[in-house]
Amino acid sequence: MRHPASAPAILEIDLAAVVANWRLLCRHHPSGAVAGVVKADGYGLGAQRVAPALYAAGCRHFFVALLDEALAIRAGLPGAMVAVLGGPLPGSEPDYTANDITPVLNNLAELDAWAATARQSGRSLPGLLHVDTGMSRLGLDPRELAILQADHTRLAGIDLRYVMTHLVSSEDPDDPLNHRQAERFARACAGLPPAARSFANSSGIFLGAAWGSDLARPGAALYGINPTPGRPNPMRQTVRLTARVLAVRDISPGDSVGYNATWRAARPSRIATIGVGYADGWHRSLSGRGTAIFDGTPLPLVGRVSMDLTTFDATDHPAVQPGSMLELLGPTQTPDDVAAAAGTNGYEVLTSLGRRFHRVYRPA
Ligand SMILES: *Cc1c(COP(=O)(O)O)cnc(C)c1O
Repeated sequence: MRHPASAPAILEIDLAAVVANWRLLCRHHPSGAVAGVVKADGYGLGAQRVAPALYAAGCRHFFVALLDEALAIRAGLPGAMVAVLGGPLPGSEPDYTANDITPVLNNLAELDAWAATARQSGRSLPGLLHVDTGMSRLGLDPRELAILQADHTRLAGIDLRYVMTHLVSSEDPDDPLNHRQAERFARACAGLPPAARSFANSSGIFLGAAWGSDLARPGAALYGINPTPGRPNPMRQTVRLTARVLAVRDISPGDSVGYNATWRAARPSRIATIGVGYADGWHRSLSGRGTAIFDGTPLPLVGRVSMDLTTFDATDHPAVQPGSMLELLGPTQTPDDVAAAAGTNGYEVLTSLGRRFHRVYRPA
């Protein structure tokens, strides 16, 4: 946004809090290093700002989903591992070698292609090997794993940095899948050449020592999402989103607010309108359910969330006036809180954060 006054809202991003969260995760993962997962533009906070801040704090391993995301941050992270979770698509191998980007090898075809690239270039090339232990998305499936365990020569030319797997339900410590995946991962590694391991995501770090490894891969917790749902959040909040009230309207009993008249005033009411809507990641499913915080107290969201506008009942808050700032996200109403109201998770709230906000970064 070129001029703050033309932005519908101000998004303050606290890089110091992101770094503090990374340090806390390091203390909770004594078995090994802690990477920064900065896919989806650093979970919406801005990978080009988040990754260098983590790097300055000592983080030396970064994960993104796509090659383009890796290319965007590579130059600012000298000597660090920048790994692409999505795997190298056929033909993209030269982009990896030319830019020192490390692929996650998710199947035998990718492994063979990367080994062939290594042979052609006459040097060994770094790679991570992803083993599927329950997610059934990416990673070697049991059949492919058995083939590789029986024939380690397929890894020739590959500098195997980590063998990794990804937890299915780590935010639920009582889910038996957590133990089952730890067993499957141990068995997978036992049949492969000795290599460092990468296991836990954010919540996995809090499961216990059995999920420790040489490299944890947290994303969500870095950005303040609670890795231990149902228990107090050990992480610091990293974002504050405040929206300016554009207008305040007095309406009469029976008057409706917004598309399809889903809310009607039961009493003389004051309706405050902000310039943030579902196009800004303020989810339409918050219609009739969300709140905004004014002076520490919640104003109920009334009517439908529109593309660019949202309406709140300010009847009991006469101090709300045009120009007042309402807090949509922050310490009082966290991304996890908004996610609960919207029927999603904090990950989706953060990664949906719009491009129209005026962004202010608090340095680390
Ligand atoms: C996204 C992702 C992570 C990070 O998960 P969080 O729950 O955000 O900590 C780690 N590993 C893989 C493979 C991922 O896709």
